Amino acid sequence: MPYWSIYCLYCRGYIADALLECLPRAKQSSAAYRLLFQTKPGAALACPYCNGLAGFDAAGQLQAPLPGWPVFRYGEAELNVKKQADGEPPGCSLGEWALRHRFTQPGTHPPLGNYLYAEQAPPAEVVP
Ligand SMILES: [Zn+2]
Repeated sequence: MPYWSIYCLYCRGYIADALLECLPRAKQSSAAYRLLFQTKPGAALACPYCNGLAGFDAAGQLQAPLPGWPVFRYGEAELNVKKQADGEPPGCSLGEWALRHRFTQPGTHPPLGNYLYAEQAPPAEVVP
């Protein structure tokens, strides 16, 4: 997995590890996923803190994504697997786990507080 890390453009939360392996497995074979992986333009990631959409420009710099780019959101199922792997019990919420282990530097929003997980989003969601 790549080790790029960003400060969200909107909430200033720090995404130290993008956890791209926790995007829906079914979408990990798409061309847009590879673009996101390589910090290239053409795909958007929904911030785990604020749901804001982040993308990259041709130089690999963070930018607001352009309309029509496919949106990637974390999968609740995939995050739960990661939570278990981090040793947290079932009673630990994803938000508690994320703050403790993965998304530990919130800006204005706690991690996964009101997050729209991939399971709840439209299957072919694009940047409006
Ligand atoms: Zn954010």
